[in-house]
Amino acid sequence: MTDTILISIVVFIIGLMIGSFLNVVIYRIPKGENIAFPASHCQHCSTPLKWYHNIPVLSWLFLRGKCAFCNAPIAKQYPLVELITGILFVILYFKLGLVWYLPFVAFSFAALFALVMIDFKYMAVPDNVNFAALIFALIQPDFLHAAMYAAIAAGGLYLIGLFSSLIARRQAMGGADVIVAGTMGALLGFPNFFAALFLSAILAVVPSLIKRETGVPFVPFLAMATFIVYIYDTQTLQLIEKVIYG
Ligand SMILES: [Zn+2]
Repeated sequence: MTDTILISIVVFIIGLMIGSFLNVVIYRIPKGENIAFPASHCQHCSTPLKWYHNIPVLSWLFLRGKCAFCNAPIAKQYPLVELITGILFVILYFKLGLVWYLPFVAFSFAALFALVMIDFKYMAVPDNVNFAALIFALIQPDFLHAAMYAAIAAGGLYLIGLFSSLIARRQAMGGADVIVAGTMGALLGFPNFFAALFLSAILAVVPSLIKRETGVPFVPFLAMATFIVYIYDTQTLQLIEKVIYG
């Protein structure tokens, strides 16, 4: 019991640090900047940050959300992304236990989370982050099945996109969605992949009605649905069986 609590705290802290890195990815990749250089600096006055300005969540709290040098406000995105990543990691630890592939599943969801944030902010899905999610998703005990599921899911979505764009005479689905589908297939397998697709469509209904003019990015709903179905995998299977066999 005390072990579980101790490991949860360590997993949470690792999640916070990965979240801190995700902030760099979210901020720099869409602008085509290097993620390692230059070191963290204030977006407003460009002063390089001291190490104690870079502690996830805590620095933001003790600086009261302002730059230590120029007092410019620091976006709430920074502590929020760190906190959410920490919580994601702990949930995944509770789900899987301390297995060797826990970091890779966690990194895959972390990459998906970065994609979600970038898609929300810039309506863009960078390939390198997208492929990182897929590669991490493939590192698991049953690699061959994961790779097969990824190929079927991505291939299936590609064909659906091809047919629907032939019928609708416009681009219905982008290449980015196909890669995300591959990640979903690897993480979820079948038939849960279909459950996640279905759930993402349901989650997207109300937001798409509200933002009918501009349209909504779809990757956030795919990622959310993937996480929910991943955590509730057995319940999802039972639900699918009930729907099919009554
Ligand atoms: Zn500053």
